[in-house]
Amino acid sequence: MARVYNFSAGPAVLPEEVLKEAAEEMLDYRGCGMSVMEMSHRSKVYETIIKEAEADLRELMNIPDNYKVLFLQGGASQQFAMIPMNLMKNRVADYIVTGQWAKKAYQEAGKYGKVNKIASSEDETFSYIPDCSDLPISEDADYVYICENNTIYGTKFKELPNTKGKTLVSDVSSCFLSEPVDVSKYGIIYGGVQKNIGPAGVVIVIIREDLITEDVLPGTPTMLQYKIHADNDSLYNTPPAYGIYICGKVFKWLKKQGGLAAMKAYNEEKAAILYDFLDSSRLFKGTVRKEDRSLMNVPFVTGNADLDAKFVKEAKEAGLENLKGHRSVGGMRASIYNAMPREGVVKLVEFMKKFEEENC
Ligand SMILES: *Cc1c(COP(=O)(O)O)cnc(C)c1O
Repeated sequence: MARVYNFSAGPAVLPEEVLKEAAEEMLDYRGCGMSVMEMSHRSKVYETIIKEAEADLRELMNIPDNYKVLFLQGGASQQFAMIPMNLMKNRVADYIVTGQWAKKAYQEAGKYGKVNKIASSEDETFSYIPDCSDLPISEDADYVYICENNTIYGTKFKELPNTKGKTLVSDVSSCFLSEPVDVSKYGIIYGGVQKNIGPAGVVIVIIREDLITEDVLPGTPTMLQYKIHADNDSLYNTPPAYGIYICGKVFKWLKKQGGLAAMKAYNEEKAAILYDFLDSSRLFKGTVRKEDRSLMNVPFVTGNADLDAKFVKEAKEAGLENLKGHRSVGGMRASIYNAMPREGVVKLVEFMKKFEEENC
């Protein structure tokens, strides 16, 4: 068995320890005689799994008691509709569009009410985060929406926007649990788990209790009402049970690493190895404004599409996989999530140096 260094943007690398433990428990989960995949979601054993997962996440993120944690399905994209359907009391919302995911959320919300694009960085291929200190927030906005880490473009909000008292909703799919956050600053903080936590399909929604009401848009399907899932502790219907079990293991792994402050330090160290090289390279260059650089997703280019393709191909042969950039940016992108070991980034930079010497 040879595992590669997997720089995929998502689904992405998971901690090897977690995968091994899951493999050991595959046929017989702790003496149950069955896999977690095969057991009732109403069983005592599963109840312990989902309760512990929630408790560990609450501890990791220091989630206040007036927030609910929901384990839902449909990925992050389902939330693009669920958020306006549940939160648009005035049918008005403000969106800050800093990439494809924020744009998709903005377009989807437009089906349900008046959406205002109050800031955007599309003019420069989303390569920066606009100044959000004094935006024209709408008087009657039900919420202000951001995508906090832009997976495709490699930018990250280093400071939250000034929402002038309005509820902040944030998609943190690609920076989930990568550093400490102050949950109390958000109305909703949510993310698909396949970037930094677990298997695709699960989305975790952390929502302030006062936002969970029966007063949703007419016609909102039962399955898309936060209240239904909150009242049933994410067990209204069969949840993505196996996926939640893996997320729970990753939470325990994160606690063992020292929690989110330790994770942040590790992520900063890893990202610096790559960014420092990009800043000194004669061949490669980063595509993002320095102060807005993501710790998780690092896009870079040579400026020559043929050379980019050659790099991606030769890197793969060297055991460094999924480095091709998103089609809208071109070039390369290295996603260096929590579970990417430091050695992976070191190996990548060594390979880039060698490639530079051979091709420049
Ligand atoms: C990947 C991603 C999504 C989409 O997630 P799905 O689970 O495929 O719906 C949304 N937002 C961000 C920031 C992402 O990185």
